[in-house]
Amino acid sequence: MKAPGSSAAPETLAHLFRSLGNLYAPSERLVYVNRDIDFNHIKVVGFDLDYTLARYCQAELEDLTLTVIFEKLYQAGFPEGFQLDRGESDFAMRGLVVDRQEGNILKLDRHGYVGRGYHGLQPLNSRELGRTYPEQRVGVEKARFSSVDTLFSLPEVNLFAKAVEHFDANMDDWGAGGFTDYAQVWDIIRTCTNASHQDDSIKASIRADPSRYIVRDPDLPAMLHRLRSLGKKIFLLTNSEPEYAQVLLELLLNEAGRGYTGWESFFDWIVVSARKPSFFTGSDPFIDVESGKATRSPKRNVVYAGGNQTDLQKVLKSHPDQILFVGDHIYDDVVKSKKNFGWRTALIVEELETDITTRRNWSVMIEEVEALRALRQKLSREVARMKFGLNAMDRSLQDEGLRLDGRLVTNSDYDAGRAVLLTEVARKRKELQVIDRRVNQLARKVSDAFNPYWGSLFWETHDTSRFAQQAETFACAYTSRASNLLFIAPEETLFAGAGKLAHSWRLP
Ligand SMILES: [Mg+2]
Repeated sequence: MKAPGSSAAPETLAHLFRSLGNLYAPSERLVYVNRDIDFNHIKVVGFDLDYTLARYCQAELEDLTLTVIFEKLYQAGFPEGFQLDRGESDFAMRGLVVDRQEGNILKLDRHGYVGRGYHGLQPLNSRELGRTYPEQRVGVEKARFSSVDTLFSLPEVNLFAKAVEHFDANMDDWGAGGFTDYAQVWDIIRTCTNASHQDDSIKASIRADPSRYIVRDPDLPAMLHRLRSLGKKIFLLTNSEPEYAQVLLELLLNEAGRGYTGWESFFDWIVVSARKPSFFTGSDPFIDVESGKATRSPKRNVVYAGGNQTDLQKVLKSHPDQILFVGDHIYDDVVKSKKNFGWRTALIVEELETDITTRRNWSVMIEEVEALRALRQKLSREVARMKFGLNAMDRSLQDEGLRLDGRLVTNSDYDAGRAVLLTEVARKRKELQVIDRRVNQLARKVSDAFNPYWGSLFWETHDTSRFAQQAETFACAYTSRASNLLFIAPEETLFAGAGKLAHSWRLP
């Protein structure tokens, strides 16, 4: 052992510190904060299940969903010639808006303006977008538009885009099945998707082979154990049915030892079939899944179905500000849970991991685009001011003549000076064109690196996306996985950066 005062190599100490604390996560696994959270102050942490504790293998789930839905779609009159092949389904992204009337899929910026859009799978240029959306802003609340709020919805959007293409090329076939407009096509896709979730046809396949569809996360039991050992209470609040939740959680938390006797022992309260978002506004009792008995006061270590937030809040015996709820659905988990009682909220944004990795890999080009945009702004301001100055001088010359140091400027002197300034304006304009071309070229490359159809989940054109705006407005924090809570130190306060959402602008 070294004597006090002697110094160990800093790197060795850092390694030792990491191995003991395991608190150093790569930036794609950090918890990002919109509103300060004092983690020491949090007494209870609640978790949603699907896409929160349970991460899905999206490609497998999409394949399964499409297989199941297609049977129903054909029964509902979809033409036999309409198919979606494996691997064709990489189009949809969370945060998009479906225009069921026009057969368009749109990405909006933070102000609700249409940034880019596709008719089916065909990109719409700015002229076409301007014609269809003359007011530019889209009121997503209207029955015409449907918001893509969860990763569960991606298959139906992929399906709709492809169906619109097929509809345009084969109207007679669709007409024979009773389809005369895009809205009918969208509505049937939605109906069949909902039916597939409700009639158990999707979930039965997942229950039969859960490891094919669910991604195991070794940090998940460690994270729950860390929270428990810090004295925090934990609850599960999922819309999934008890049989389904059990299969998923057995796979995810099948850890023996450390005092755990099965997945149930990781939780203090367990609520399944919760019917969020009405769980947060209703007053349904909690039904003991085993005995069928109803109660207003759910006990620990019993699995309940139904229930409501008011009664759960009472048994949690904590101030709402001490309860953190973690979920992936912006409305059903985040907006609603915080509305009545003011629970703190963390939004799971799985896409953050690839988004941050892309930003890191492309950081040189992203910085170049930002620097060129700043230069373009400066140059365009200079050009505008020079033109304004020249026009003002022209007017003065015509009205009363121009004076310099008390002497009247001759027309020939003025013309010579004016010509120099005009040359300078022309040079700057040319420079602006070069910068414009370069910015557009680089911005396109960067955008394609994030997603060839839609760019970054968090950006749209020069501003943040509607999704980023929602995450910023409603969620106290956001992170890529529930297990990332493992990387928060027990007494850490997570501080929000001033201003916009971290992933809107700053490079990680
Ligand atoms: Mg969920």
